[in-house]
Amino acid sequence: MNEQKQTTTILDRTLAGERMSSADALHLWLHGNFRDLGNAAVEVRNRLNKPDEVSYTAFRVVNYTNYCNVECSFCSFMDEVGSGKGYNLSADEILRKVDEAMRLDSPQLFLQGGVNPDLPMQYYTDTLAAVRDKFPEVHIRAFSPVEVLYMEKLTGKSLVDVFAGLKAAGMHSFPGAGAEILTDRMRDILSPKKASTDEWLRAMRTAQQQGLKSSTNIVWGSEETDDEIIAHLTRLRELQDATSGVLSFVPWTFQAQTKKFRLRKVAPHEYLKMVSLSRLFLDNIQHIEVSIMVAGKQLGELALHFGADDINSPVIEENVLRSFGLKSVTESVQFIEEAGFNPVRRSFNYVRGAKTDQGN
Ligand code: SF4
Repeated sequence: MNEQKQTTTILDRTLAGERMSSADALHLWLHGNFRDLGNAAVEVRNRLNKPDEVSYTAFRVVNYTNYCNVECSFCSFMDEVGSGKGYNLSADEILRKVDEAMRLDSPQLFLQGGVNPDLPMQYYTDTLAAVRDKFPEVHIRAFSPVEVLYMEKLTGKSLVDVFAGLKAAGMHSFPGAGAEILTDRMRDILSPKKASTDEWLRAMRTAQQQGLKSSTNIVWGSEETDDEIIAHLTRLRELQDATSGVLSFVPWTFQAQTKKFRLRKVAPHEYLKMVSLSRLFLDNIQHIEVSIMVAGKQLGELALHFGADDINSPVIEENVLRSFGLKSVTESVQFIEEAGFNPVRRSFNYVRGAKTDQGN
Protein backbone atom coordinates (compact mmCIF):
# COMPACT_ATOMS: atom_id res chain seq x y z
CA MET A 1 0.00 0.00 0.00
CA ASN A 2 1.45 3.40 -0.81
CA GLU A 3 1.90 5.91 1.98
CA GLN A 4 -1.04 8.17 1.10
CA LYS A 5 -3.38 5.21 0.72
CA GLN A 6 -2.26 3.85 4.08
CA THR A 7 -2.84 7.26 5.68
CA THR A 8 -6.38 7.36 4.26
CA THR A 9 -7.08 3.82 5.49
CA ILE A 10 -5.86 4.62 9.01
CA LEU A 11 -7.89 7.83 9.20
CA ASP A 12 -11.02 6.09 7.85
CA ARG A 13 -10.68 3.32 10.42
CA THR A 14 -10.14 5.85 13.22
CA LEU A 15 -13.20 7.85 12.19
CA ALA A 16 -15.19 4.61 12.14
CA GLY A 17 -14.34 4.24 15.83
CA GLU A 18 -11.41 1.82 15.71
CA ARG A 19 -8.61 2.51 18.20
CA MET A 20 -5.43 3.60 16.41
CA SER A 21 -2.39 1.39 16.98
CA SER A 22 0.99 2.88 17.89
CA ALA A 23 2.35 1.66 14.54
CA ASP A 24 -0.42 3.51 12.70
CA ALA A 25 0.24 6.63 14.76
CA LEU A 26 3.89 6.45 13.75
CA HIS A 27 2.86 6.14 10.11
CA LEU A 28 0.68 9.26 10.38
CA TRP A 29 3.42 11.16 12.18
CA LEU A 30 6.01 10.26 9.54
CA HIS A 31 3.97 10.26 6.35
CA GLY A 32 0.57 11.84 6.96
CA ASN A 33 -0.27 15.21 5.51
CA PHE A 34 -1.03 17.59 8.38
CA ARG A 35 -4.18 18.86 6.63
CA ASP A 36 -5.57 15.31 6.32
CA LEU A 37 -4.87 14.71 9.99
CA GLY A 38 -6.40 18.08 10.84
CA ASN A 39 -9.67 17.34 9.03
CA ALA A 40 -10.04 13.98 10.78
CA ALA A 41 -9.05 15.47 14.15
CA VAL A 42 -11.72 18.16 13.91
CA GLU A 43 -14.33 15.49 13.29
CA VAL A 44 -13.25 13.58 16.40
CA ARG A 45 -12.96 16.80 18.45
CA ASN A 46 -16.53 17.68 17.49
CA ARG A 47 -17.81 14.29 18.62
CA LEU A 48 -16.14 14.66 22.02
CA ASN A 49 -16.79 18.36 22.58
CA LYS A 50 -19.33 20.94 21.48
CA PRO A 51 -18.27 21.99 17.95
CA ASP A 52 -18.93 25.72 18.37
CA GLU A 53 -17.30 26.12 21.79
CA VAL A 54 -13.75 26.58 23.02
CA SER A 55 -13.10 26.63 26.73
CA TYR A 56 -10.57 28.57 28.79
CA THR A 57 -9.70 28.89 32.43
CA ALA A 58 -7.84 31.36 34.64
CA PHE A 59 -5.48 30.64 37.48
CA ARG A 60 -2.52 31.96 39.39
CA VAL A 61 0.80 30.17 39.20
CA VAL A 62 2.91 30.40 42.34
CA ASN A 63 6.39 28.93 42.24
CA TYR A 64 7.02 28.48 45.97
CA THR A 65 10.78 27.93 45.65
CA ASN A 66 13.32 28.10 42.86
CA TYR A 67 15.95 26.08 44.69
CA CYS A 68 16.18 22.72 42.98
CA ASN A 69 18.58 19.80 43.01
CA VAL A 70 17.24 18.13 39.87
CA GLU A 71 19.14 20.36 37.42
CA CYS A 72 17.21 19.73 34.20
CA SER A 73 19.36 20.87 31.29
CA PHE A 74 16.62 23.06 29.82
CA CYS A 75 15.70 24.91 33.03
CA SER A 76 16.70 28.54 33.62
CA PHE A 77 14.38 28.95 36.61
CA MET A 78 16.28 27.00 39.25
CA ASP A 79 19.04 28.16 41.57
CA GLU A 80 21.47 25.69 43.05
CA VAL A 81 20.59 24.52 46.56
CA GLY A 82 22.89 26.28 49.03
CA SER A 83 23.86 29.04 46.58
CA GLY A 84 22.01 31.69 48.57
CA LYS A 85 20.74 33.19 45.31
CA GLY A 86 17.27 31.67 45.26
CA TYR A 87 14.09 32.02 47.31
CA ASN A 88 11.53 30.10 49.35
CA LEU A 89 8.13 31.72 49.71
CA SER A 90 6.51 31.80 53.13
CA ALA A 91 2.85 30.89 53.57
CA ASP A 92 2.08 34.60 54.07
CA GLU A 93 3.73 35.52 50.78
CA ILE A 94 1.76 32.80 49.00
CA LEU A 95 -1.48 33.97 50.63
CA ARG A 96 -0.81 37.50 49.37
CA LYS A 97 -0.44 36.16 45.83
CA VAL A 98 -3.66 34.17 46.11
CA ASP A 99 -5.39 37.27 47.43
CA GLU A 100 -4.27 39.19 44.32
CA ALA A 101 -5.66 36.39 42.15
CA MET A 102 -8.97 36.56 44.02
CA ARG A 103 -9.19 40.27 43.29
CA LEU A 104 -8.71 39.39 39.60
CA ASP A 105 -11.59 36.92 39.93
CA SER A 106 -9.31 33.87 39.45
CA PRO A 107 -9.94 31.50 42.37
CA GLN A 108 -7.55 28.78 41.23
CA LEU A 109 -3.95 28.25 42.34
CA PHE A 110 -1.26 26.26 40.55
CA LEU A 111 1.41 25.69 43.19
CA GLN A 112 4.70 24.31 42.01
CA GLY A 113 8.40 24.66 42.71
CA GLY A 114 11.83 23.13 42.52
CA VAL A 115 12.92 20.14 44.58
CA ASN A 116 14.47 21.82 47.60
CA PRO A 117 15.89 19.38 50.17
CA ASP A 118 15.94 22.18 52.76
CA LEU A 119 12.13 22.21 52.96
CA PRO A 120 10.51 19.83 55.47
CA MET A 121 7.28 17.96 54.69
CA GLN A 122 5.43 20.27 57.03
CA TYR A 123 6.19 23.18 54.71
CA TYR A 124 4.02 21.61 51.99
CA THR A 125 1.12 20.61 54.20
CA ASP A 126 1.17 23.90 56.16
CA THR A 127 1.19 25.91 52.92
CA LEU A 128 -1.75 23.97 51.50
CA ALA A 129 -3.68 24.24 54.76
CA ALA A 130 -3.02 27.99 54.99
CA VAL A 131 -4.49 28.56 51.52
CA ARG A 132 -7.41 26.20 52.17
CA ASP A 133 -8.27 27.85 55.49
CA LYS A 134 -8.10 31.44 54.21
CA PHE A 135 -9.57 30.78 50.75
CA PRO A 136 -11.78 27.66 50.92
CA GLU A 137 -13.23 28.41 47.47
CA VAL A 138 -9.80 28.19 45.78
CA HIS A 139 -9.01 25.05 43.82
CA ILE A 140 -5.39 24.10 44.61
CA ARG A 141 -3.62 22.23 41.84
CA ALA A 142 -0.24 21.39 43.26
CA PHE A 143 3.21 19.87 42.77
CA SER A 144 4.34 17.39 40.12
CA PRO A 145 5.60 13.79 40.03
CA VAL A 146 9.19 14.82 40.77
CA GLU A 147 8.14 16.82 43.84
CA VAL A 148 5.94 14.11 45.36
CA LEU A 149 8.55 11.43 44.66
CA TYR A 150 10.94 13.61 46.65
CA MET A 151 8.34 13.83 49.46
CA GLU A 152 8.09 10.03 49.44
CA LYS A 153 11.84 9.81 50.08
CA LEU A 154 11.80 12.64 52.58
CA THR A 155 9.09 11.11 54.76
CA GLY A 156 9.76 7.40 54.23
CA LYS A 157 5.98 7.01 53.75
CA SER A 158 4.28 5.29 50.84
CA LEU A 159 3.22 7.45 47.93
CA VAL A 160 -0.40 6.66 48.78
CA ASP A 161 0.13 8.11 52.25
CA VAL A 162 1.98 11.15 50.88
CA PHE A 163 -0.99 11.93 48.61
CA ALA A 164 -3.44 11.27 51.43
CA GLY A 165 -1.59 13.82 53.60
CA LEU A 166 -1.51 16.40 50.79
CA LYS A 167 -5.19 15.91 50.07
CA ALA A 168 -6.08 16.22 53.74
CA ALA A 169 -4.14 19.50 53.83
CA GLY A 170 -6.06 20.96 50.90
CA MET A 171 -4.70 19.74 47.55
CA HIS A 172 -7.44 19.18 44.95
CA SER A 173 -5.69 18.05 41.76
CA PHE A 174 -2.26 17.10 40.48
CA PRO A 175 -0.63 18.37 37.26
CA GLY A 176 1.16 15.94 34.98
CA ALA A 177 4.19 18.21 34.80
CA GLY A 178 7.76 17.18 34.09
CA ALA A 179 6.87 14.49 31.58
CA GLU A 180 8.83 16.01 28.69
CA ILE A 181 9.41 12.76 26.72
CA LEU A 182 8.61 9.56 28.59
CA THR A 183 11.50 7.39 27.50
CA ASP A 184 14.49 6.74 29.69
CA ARG A 185 16.92 7.55 26.88
CA MET A 186 15.52 11.08 26.57
CA ARG A 187 15.20 11.54 30.32
CA ASP A 188 18.89 10.61 30.67
CA ILE A 189 19.78 13.22 28.07
CA LEU A 190 17.58 16.04 29.38
CA SER A 191 17.42 15.50 33.12
CA PRO A 192 19.17 12.40 34.44
CA LYS A 193 18.28 13.24 38.05
CA LYS A 194 14.57 13.51 37.35
CA ALA A 195 12.01 10.74 37.82
CA SER A 196 12.42 7.85 35.39
CA THR A 197 9.58 7.01 33.02
CA ASP A 198 8.27 4.31 35.36
CA GLU A 199 8.54 6.54 38.42
CA TRP A 200 6.75 9.40 36.69
CA LEU A 201 3.94 7.05 35.67
CA ARG A 202 3.78 5.54 39.15
CA ALA A 203 3.28 8.98 40.68
CA MET A 204 0.56 9.85 38.18
CA ARG A 205 -1.22 6.52 38.59
CA THR A 206 -1.16 6.78 42.37
CA ALA A 207 -2.47 10.37 42.35
CA GLN A 208 -5.32 9.48 40.06
CA GLN A 209 -6.19 6.38 42.03
CA GLN A 210 -6.50 8.72 45.03
CA GLY A 211 -9.06 10.75 43.08
CA LEU A 212 -6.77 13.61 42.04
CA LYS A 213 -7.52 14.64 38.45
CA SER A 214 -4.63 15.56 36.17
CA SER A 215 -3.53 17.12 32.95
CA THR A 216 -0.83 15.59 30.74
CA ASN A 217 1.49 16.94 28.09
CA ILE A 218 4.39 16.31 25.78
CA VAL A 219 7.37 18.64 25.42
CA TRP A 220 9.22 17.98 22.20
CA GLY A 221 11.63 19.73 19.87
CA SER A 222 14.95 18.42 21.18
CA GLU A 223 16.70 15.25 20.06
CA GLU A 224 13.82 12.83 20.60
CA THR A 225 13.14 10.32 17.83
CA ASP A 226 9.82 9.83 16.08
CA ASP A 227 9.46 6.45 17.81
CA GLU A 228 9.92 8.15 21.17
CA ILE A 229 7.16 10.64 20.44
CA ILE A 230 4.76 7.79 19.74
CA ALA A 231 6.02 5.82 22.77
CA HIS A 232 5.25 8.88 24.91
CA LEU A 233 1.70 9.18 23.59
CA THR A 234 1.19 5.44 24.02
CA ARG A 235 2.25 5.59 27.69
CA LEU A 236 -0.19 8.40 28.36
CA ARG A 237 -3.02 6.50 26.68
CA GLU A 238 -2.21 3.42 28.76
CA LEU A 239 -2.14 5.54 31.91
CA GLN A 240 -5.58 6.87 31.11
CA ASP A 241 -6.89 3.37 30.33
CA ALA A 242 -5.80 2.37 33.83
CA THR A 243 -7.07 5.41 35.76
CA SER A 244 -9.52 7.59 33.78
CA GLY A 245 -8.00 10.46 35.76
CA VAL A 246 -6.58 12.48 32.87
CA LEU A 247 -8.73 15.40 31.79
CA SER A 248 -6.57 16.91 29.09
CA PHE A 249 -3.44 16.75 27.00
CA VAL A 250 -1.32 19.78 26.08
CA PRO A 251 1.33 19.74 23.32
CA TRP A 252 4.28 21.94 24.34
CA THR A 253 7.52 22.57 22.52
CA PHE A 254 10.84 23.18 24.24
CA GLN A 255 11.68 26.86 24.58
CA ALA A 256 15.19 28.28 24.41
CA GLN A 257 15.84 28.78 28.13
CA THR A 258 19.43 27.50 28.30
CA LYS A 259 22.16 26.39 25.92
CA LYS A 260 22.71 23.12 27.80
CA PHE A 261 20.48 20.96 25.59
CA ARG A 262 19.90 20.49 21.88
CA LEU A 263 16.94 22.54 20.74
CA ARG A 264 15.23 21.94 17.41
CA LYS A 265 12.84 24.47 15.93
CA VAL A 266 9.44 22.83 15.56
CA ALA A 267 7.83 24.10 12.35
CA PRO A 268 4.20 25.28 12.48
CA HIS A 269 2.98 22.30 10.39
CA GLU A 270 4.69 19.90 12.81
CA TYR A 271 3.07 21.60 15.79
CA LEU A 272 -0.35 21.35 14.14
CA LYS A 273 0.30 17.73 13.26
CA MET A 274 0.97 16.99 16.92
CA VAL A 275 -2.30 18.68 17.91
CA SER A 276 -4.21 16.58 15.36
CA LEU A 277 -2.39 13.32 16.00
CA SER A 278 -2.88 13.59 19.74
CA ARG A 279 -6.61 14.28 19.20
CA LEU A 280 -6.88 11.15 17.05
CA PHE A 281 -4.64 8.85 19.08
CA LEU A 282 -5.65 9.82 22.64
CA ASP A 283 -9.20 8.58 22.20
CA ASN A 284 -9.68 8.31 25.97
CA ILE A 285 -8.72 11.91 26.84
CA GLN A 286 -11.52 14.37 26.27
CA HIS A 287 -9.70 17.66 25.90
CA ILE A 288 -6.75 18.82 23.84
CA GLU A 289 -5.45 22.15 25.10
CA VAL A 290 -3.38 24.59 23.15
CA SER A 291 -1.00 26.68 25.24
CA ILE A 292 -1.08 30.15 23.72
CA MET A 293 1.90 30.97 25.92
CA VAL A 294 3.98 28.46 23.95
CA ALA A 295 2.35 28.41 20.52
CA GLY A 296 1.68 32.14 20.28
CA LYS A 297 -1.60 33.64 19.12
CA GLN A 298 -1.38 32.90 15.40
CA LEU A 299 -0.43 29.24 15.67
CA GLY A 300 -2.70 28.85 18.69
CA GLU A 301 -5.67 30.07 16.69
CA LEU A 302 -4.88 27.60 13.92
CA ALA A 303 -4.59 24.78 16.46
CA LEU A 304 -8.25 25.34 17.37
CA HIS A 305 -9.03 24.33 13.78
CA PHE A 306 -6.81 21.25 13.98
CA GLY A 307 -8.41 19.44 16.91
CA ALA A 308 -7.80 21.51 20.07
CA ASP A 309 -10.88 22.56 22.08
CA ASP A 310 -9.35 24.60 24.95
CA ILE A 311 -6.82 27.43 25.29
CA ASN A 312 -5.83 26.91 28.93
CA SER A 313 -4.65 30.52 29.60
CA PRO A 314 -4.53 33.16 31.02
CA VAL A 315 -1.88 32.56 33.61
CA ILE A 316 -1.38 35.35 36.13
CA GLU A 317 2.24 34.59 36.89
CA GLU A 318 4.70 32.22 35.32
CA ASN A 319 8.33 32.17 36.34
CA VAL A 320 9.48 29.00 34.64
CA LEU A 321 8.59 30.22 31.22
CA ARG A 322 8.24 33.83 30.17
CA SER A 323 6.48 34.18 26.93
CA PHE A 324 3.51 35.64 25.15
CA GLY A 325 0.32 34.23 26.62
CA LEU A 326 -3.08 35.82 26.92
CA LYS A 327 -2.98 38.28 29.80
CA SER A 328 -6.58 38.49 30.93
CA VAL A 329 -9.96 36.82 30.78
CA THR A 330 -11.16 39.59 28.45
CA GLU A 331 -8.26 38.91 26.08
CA SER A 332 -9.02 35.16 26.17
CA VAL A 333 -12.69 35.70 25.36
CA GLN A 334 -11.79 38.00 22.49
CA PHE A 335 -9.18 35.56 21.19
CA ILE A 336 -11.66 32.68 21.12
CA GLU A 337 -14.35 34.79 19.45
CA GLU A 338 -11.93 35.99 16.78
CA ALA A 339 -10.99 32.36 16.13
CA GLY A 340 -14.67 31.72 15.35
CA PHE A 341 -15.88 29.98 18.54
CA ASN A 342 -18.03 30.72 21.56
CA PRO A 343 -15.87 31.08 24.69
CA VAL A 344 -16.82 29.02 27.74
CA ARG A 345 -15.07 29.48 31.06
CA ARG A 346 -14.28 26.25 32.91
CA SER A 347 -12.59 25.21 36.12
CA PHE A 348 -9.39 23.16 36.47
CA ASN A 349 -11.56 20.03 36.54
CA TYR A 350 -13.46 21.11 33.42
CA VAL A 351 -16.72 22.10 35.05
CA ARG A 352 -18.22 24.37 32.40
CA GLY A 353 -19.30 27.80 33.53
CA ALA A 354 -17.35 27.46 36.79
CA LYS A 355 -14.33 29.50 37.88
CA THR A 356 -13.30 26.92 40.48
CA ASP A 357 -14.35 23.41 41.52
CA GLN A 358 -14.62 24.26 45.20
CA GLY A 359 -18.14 24.91 46.35
CA ASN A 360 -19.63 23.57 43.11
S1 SF4 B 1 12.42 22.01 35.51
FE1 SF4 B 1 11.69 21.75 37.63
S2 SF4 B 1 12.71 19.88 38.34
FE2 SF4 B 1 13.85 20.57 36.52
S3 SF4 B 1 15.50 21.87 37.34
FE3 SF4 B 1 13.79 23.24 36.83
S4 SF4 B 1 12.69 23.44 38.75
FE4 SF4 B 1 13.98 21.64 38.97
